[in-house]
Amino acid sequence: AGVPAGTPAPPPAPHLFRDAAEIGALRENLLAWYDRCKRDLPWRTLVSGVGGIGASALIPAVWVSEIMLQQTQVATVIDYYNRWMQKWPTLQALAQASLEEVNELWAGLGYYSRGKRLQEAAKKVVSELAGQMPRTAEDLQKLLPGVGRYTAGAIASISYGQATGVVDGNVIRVLCRLRCIGADSSSPAVIDQLWDMANALVDRSRPGDFNQALMELGATVCVPKAPLCGECPVKQHCQARCRKLFGKPAPVPDVEDCGKQPGEIPVVALGLGPVVTVTFVFAGVGGCPLCPPPTEPWDSSLGVTNFPRKAAKKQPRVERTATCVLERRGCHGTLEYLIVQRPSSGLLAGLWEFPSLLLAQDLQEEKQREVLADHLRAWTGWPVVAGGLRFIGEVVHIFSHIHQTYVVYSLHLDGDLTLDPTLSPSRWVTEQEFHASAVSTAMKKVL
Ligand code: SF4
Repeated sequence: AGVPAGTPAPPPAPHLFRDAAEIGALRENLLAWYDRCKRDLPWRTLVSGVGGIGASALIPAVWVSEIMLQQTQVATVIDYYNRWMQKWPTLQALAQASLEEVNELWAGLGYYSRGKRLQEAAKKVVSELAGQMPRTAEDLQKLLPGVGRYTAGAIASISYGQATGVVDGNVIRVLCRLRCIGADSSSPAVIDQLWDMANALVDRSRPGDFNQALMELGATVCVPKAPLCGECPVKQHCQARCRKLFGKPAPVPDVEDCGKQPGEIPVVALGLGPVVTVTFVFAGVGGCPLCPPPTEPWDSSLGVTNFPRKAAKKQPRVERTATCVLERRGCHGTLEYLIVQRPSSGLLAGLWEFPSLLLAQDLQEEKQREVLADHLRAWTGWPVVAGGLRFIGEVVHIFSHIHQTYVVYSLHLDGDLTLDPTLSPSRWVTEQEFHASAVSTAMKKVL
């Protein structure tokens, strides 16, 4: 992209890209590296239609992979992704799937609402949008449930070639290092700045590859703890590296004195159009809204990992849940377990679990047994007594915002149990059926 005539030259600063030539070189270096070094991932295989199905009817691979990859490692996702695409390669097929089937396939991947929303979005495309996926980031985000700004940008650029940027955790890290952005990278002002930067940087002719390259760089080279700067294809554009090697970023002024004041300032000087301005209300070192806060200046022992910086994470909520593995001998003498379905909204919505009860804080063990026995009695109609529950042990499972401890009991039942049909759906399953059901990883640990 060239500089439109009459665009004023932006002032030099460590947080800005110098000019269109620097951006052009960065794009070229990054794309050449990506072409050489990209990982071979199943969603990167171009599909142009299979078995007589036209490409437009296929579900965009990047949509499924990006939803699965939220909060989940690539290595874990690959198998889930392959099974999903084999089962529901088209929007139509996914729209017809039941939530139970989706949960079964998703079991173990975590954050179950993601699968549910993916299926709801496919339904919407088929029933309300005549089977046509929206093709711009704006429409994708507006029209499809579960598609946020990042996923919309990824689908629009990778599947449909729209020149729009993406900002995920990897991109945040790379851009903050490239431009020495040390203010809280989760603050709305910095996130807005990074989006402006990503939108301006994205290569106009290969937007999908460029976005994937930026993310790939963050995932494989510019990694959180020990980035491989020596192998980095954009090292010559990296202000953090420059700061580490020479004590200051290039070009001057120094990062502690980059001269920016809070207020209306040019934040993306990219030579691609009018300079973007954003109003900041807070300030880091030297009054700059993008520099590290004055209380936490550059730490030379950290090198490039001075960036990005985040406000301290909120501590997860601590919870204890009593859970009871009810078992019986089935008709062929095989052990069977009772599982019940969770409500259709909230944490682990619609998944199956052993009968469980959230415990009040600091409940003594004796009391725990009693409340669990009451719960099971009311629920099963069986004369369960606290003394009959066998304590097995504790299982800790960390959800993103909850530190959950399951206090596990077991109870063997002989005879028939008539469950109250007005309560949650329930069923007896063998161990094999348990593992094939839509149960969470936490419940697998409990078993
Ligand atoms: Fe990241 Fe190092 Fe490359 Fe800079 S030079 S972008 S810090 S890997």
